[in-house]
Amino acid sequence: MGRILVTGGSGFLGANLCVRLIADGNRVICVDNNCTGRLTNVAGLLKNKNFRFLEQDIIEPFSIEEKIDQIYNFACPASPAAYQGKNAIFTTKTCVIGALNMLQLAKQHGAVILQASTSEVYGDPTEHPQKETYSGNVNPIGIRSCYDEGKRCAESIFFDYHREEGVPIRIVRIFNTYGPNMAPDDGRVVSNFICQALEQSNITIHGDGSQTRSFCYVDDLIEIIVRVMNGPRDFTGPVNIGNPSEFTINELAKKILDKIPTPSKIIHLPLPKDDPARRNPDISLARKEFEWFPKITLDEGLDRTIDYFKKILDP
Ligand code: UDP
Repeated sequence: MGRILVTGGSGFLGANLCVRLIADGNRVICVDNNCTGRLTNVAGLLKNKNFRFLEQDIIEPFSIEEKIDQIYNFACPASPAAYQGKNAIFTTKTCVIGALNMLQLAKQHGAVILQASTSEVYGDPTEHPQKETYSGNVNPIGIRSCYDEGKRCAESIFFDYHREEGVPIRIVRIFNTYGPNMAPDDGRVVSNFICQALEQSNITIHGDGSQTRSFCYVDDLIEIIVRVMNGPRDFTGPVNIGNPSEFTINELAKKILDKIPTPSKIIHLPLPKDDPARRNPDISLARKEFEWFPKITLDEGLDRTIDYFKKILDP
């Protein structure tokens, strides 16, 4: 049994990770300030004796009395709708100061620490698909920069703590992911389109909908995250994780409209500034090192996600 800290543990990915770690028989301390996370996501774990919830912002240093073996650093608003605008400075602080605090905690405990990094480190990529060796094309002063540059800086200090302080690190670069535990008002495209269709409101496509994303179902993603954390000690990453099947936003809208009978109509809104035109992970490293490949197709994952939203929108 491992003693594991998950920051952002009541968020979309964090909550799915906590459920998995508890099911595997670990002891889990879930840290969240509930800024975008929701306690309802971990409600099923609150009575479990191996689970503890700690309301805490990682921007503030904190200590944990009991010994920790592993830290998953997942705390950060991750939806463009959540990290832009009035949360931008907070997002940079969470990425950078939060990472520094968690690295310090990892050092004190002699723990391995895994960073939830992102495909956003590649910005609006000029290379397709994106390999880990690609340095990216990021606007340092745009409305997405708080997240993109914040996560890039976090990767940089992770490596410095590894080189200077000997802290064992792992970095996963997470591509677009969807599934249960997303909030209906998350703002990302899959949850928006499904909730709009279920609530019979307009389906909001940004721009002409020709931009692409590659969508990974959350269970596939959690599987590789756990494998990377428990992989060879010298495997730091960064490693891309996501589903390499690429779809346009128009194709995604069509799939969801085919699955949900609804009078909703498609409308087009302006494309947000710096919105990446294409995104597609090269996952050959994850495949080679961990013999991992996503199993759940977009159709199957959308069916499961639609069932989840049906339940929470109309309980
Ligand atoms: N998008 C859209 N309609 C929405 C939300 C998002 O067309 O209601 C677009 C968004 O502009 C982007 C893509 O869908 O091109 C994926 O957006 P999301 O916010 O899910 O994640 P991102 O990959 O941009 O971080």
